[in-house]
Amino acid sequence: MGESSYNPYVVAQTQFDTVADLIGLDEPTRELLRQPSREFHFTIPVKMDDGSCKVFKGYRVQHNDARGPAKGGIRFHPDETIDTVRALSMWMTWKCAVVDIPLGGGKGGVVCDPRNLSESEQERLCRGYIRQLAKNIGPNKDVPAPDVMTNAQHMLWMMDEYETLTGAHYPGVITGKPVGMGGSLGRREATGYGVIYTLREALKVLNIDITKTTASIQGFGNVAEHAARLYSKMGGKVIAISSWDNVDKKAYTFRKLDGLDIEKMAEIKDAFGTIDKEKAKDLGCEVLDGGEWISQDVDILLPCALENQIIPETVAKISSQVKVICEGANGPTTPDADALIKERNIYLIPDFLCNAGGVTCSYFEQVQCNMNYFWPKEEVLEKLDQKMTSAFHAVHNLAQEKGLYMRDAAYVIAINRVAEAVKLRGWV
Ligand code: GLU
Repeated sequence: MGESSYNPYVVAQTQFDTVADLIGLDEPTRELLRQPSREFHFTIPVKMDDGSCKVFKGYRVQHNDARGPAKGGIRFHPDETIDTVRALSMWMTWKCAVVDIPLGGGKGGVVCDPRNLSESEQERLCRGYIRQLAKNIGPNKDVPAPDVMTNAQHMLWMMDEYETLTGAHYPGVITGKPVGMGGSLGRREATGYGVIYTLREALKVLNIDITKTTASIQGFGNVAEHAARLYSKMGGKVIAISSWDNVDKKAYTFRKLDGLDIEKMAEIKDAFGTIDKEKAKDLGCEVLDGGEWISQDVDILLPCALENQIIPETVAKISSQVKVICEGANGPTTPDADALIKERNIYLIPDFLCNAGGVTCSYFEQVQCNMNYFWPKEEVLEKLDQKMTSAFHAVHNLAQEKGLYMRDAAYVIAINRVAEAVKLRGWV
């Protein structure tokens, strides 16, 4: 089976059902939590620079808001589907619950390729998205944020449109805004740093010295870049990064066996993570096929791109040297691949725990917006580290205690918290 034959919503529901069985979740709670509470499907007409009009398809899915307003990013991607958004909204619910922040789960998406849209077309698309959705989001309802191919500028246009429509300031309507415009220091780094905080803790419990480890990363967007930076700062050596090339429409793996200089690699990528091949060669990189990132002889694999990348065919390529997989991406591993990873005894830090740093910092951003008082970066990162570290150990300890796979242990904690909230509210 190829990666495209996995439906992320089926994957998310399969993961959920496995753990619902394990904890003996009652039928109504199961039925409620295995699907989204609300969905919005809409069209977004956009005036293009050449005078024509293009109609885009937009989605926002609110999976669950029992623990607080729905929360989650908006993705701009040509292959976006409603089922992908549904799955991602479910994962957001578990993510907020596992790090114990008072938020629910939601996700949005637009079927588009921002790499082929001008700045002003992107601005009109962002504003159009909010015009269709303004009544159904809000600081106490549903709070969007950046995700794949969306950034702080997109968030600011969206906030501005919302404030224009409502006639007042609502910085809490969206997170991931630019610093100085209601954004939090550290938000840009938060997801990638969070990935490495959990990796650091995993290596501690596994008794592995981080300075003696090597890693291979899939992706070089915001998450991957900051994960690579912090991992290198802690003394680890990144030897391979794979990224999508928007000109050739394929991915390449950039490898340097004595370690990539992340700072320099970041300088030769564009806003969407495409690395300049020629400049990479000048930096001493070998340019290999995109899929090669997974077969490197390294200690740590960091899938930080898209869903369905670790499937049985690619697990077969994972080197026997690999000890830890850190899921920076959402949904990178399919359930059939999970079974093989479990068999091989590779330590996995599951996505909705591993990459929860982004939404945790979004929560801090909301708190700061509510106070209209902004914290220094060190304070943000310290609070983030505390949250990620304690969530990691709660999951690790449960996994040890009950002999569970790390993903299942994270699900047990998250589902129990959300199930308790829906019961306390009297929904089921
Ligand atoms: N898009 C990020 C995620 O998947 C962050 C969401 C947020 O900050 O609300 O976790």
